[in-house]
Amino acid sequence: MIDTIYVEEGVATHPLTESILGRFRDAVTVPVTRYGEVFNRNHQSLRLQKAKPSLILAEKLGNQVLPAPEGYGIGSGKNFYFSHVLNCLCDCRYCFLQGMYRSAHYVLFVNYEDFQETIASTLDADPDQDVYFFSGYDGDSLALDAITGFVDSFVPLFARHPRAFLELQTKSATIRSLLQHEPGDNVVVAFSFAPNAAGKALEHGVPPLEARVSAMQKLTERGYRLGLRFDPLLYTTGYREQYQELFEAIFPRLEIASLHSVSFGPFRVPRDYFQRMAKLYPEERLFAGIEPSGPMVSYPPELEAEMRSYCEAELKLFVPAEILFPCRV
Ligand code: SF4
Repeated sequence: MIDTIYVEEGVATHPLTESILGRFRDAVTVPVTRYGEVFNRNHQSLRLQKAKPSLILAEKLGNQVLPAPEGYGIGSGKNFYFSHVLNCLCDCRYCFLQGMYRSAHYVLFVNYEDFQETIASTLDADPDQDVYFFSGYDGDSLALDAITGFVDSFVPLFARHPRAFLELQTKSATIRSLLQHEPGDNVVVAFSFAPNAAGKALEHGVPPLEARVSAMQKLTERGYRLGLRFDPLLYTTGYREQYQELFEAIFPRLEIASLHSVSFGPFRVPRDYFQRMAKLYPEERLFAGIEPSGPMVSYPPELEAEMRSYCEAELKLFVPAEILFPCRV
């Protein structure tokens, strides 16, 4: 799966680096000073790299934990995010990563200990309230877990800090490690979904809905709390029927009591990212008819409001309003 691994000199002897290199003995290893030498440089072809991405093992220097953008959180508490990985195994055409990075390589920041220290100190700085830490903002939380060992390192950390909530955002069905841990109430595994037709056309590499629902059922049996994310809401002429079908394919098969939260949000991408995405895939129908105006690109306001209101009303048929959150990022 990985033919080439770039390794920053500073983490060449880090235990996680050594363990990964030990598992990919056939991969070509290339030393680099900083990951920026091979990641996100101009004149790279993201489309070509997507066919055979390399892995880059690097160190995250500072800013390991950042405040989440306004409107990103679920309910109360203070919200932060952190990214141990940049980029994703999957290839969703609407994903802002396609516009944010010029490279398809996966960057893994192996200095988990620094992330964990920063999470602990961020929590200590807010002693009077719950603090949420979102993982999966710059890449899928679980898709690369077999390589990263992220779950094995971070789920036990949150077991020691019950006031800290970890949300693992994913489109994957990679739950083997999660099943091996005792779930705490403060770990939420949040799965995001798009309707079947849109998913097939736009979510390349994402496991079928069936596999992800089955993963959710297993996690519920194990005692995990789940999140559902319908974000971004994707427009097609038949979006009403498609979202209705999607909700009916998911909710009756889950225990509603196991749900921590359900959120939904509009398609929204910064203008410059959108322009890059549209240039990358000019044939993509998703981008047709969307005209950038202002710093963010989204559907026309009336259409966005109509989709939000329709999906909210439909979701209320399945889940209590207290766990339903419109996402406003
Ligand atoms: S799975 Fe998530 S992070 Fe990965 S490409 Fe799709 S939307 Fe982006």
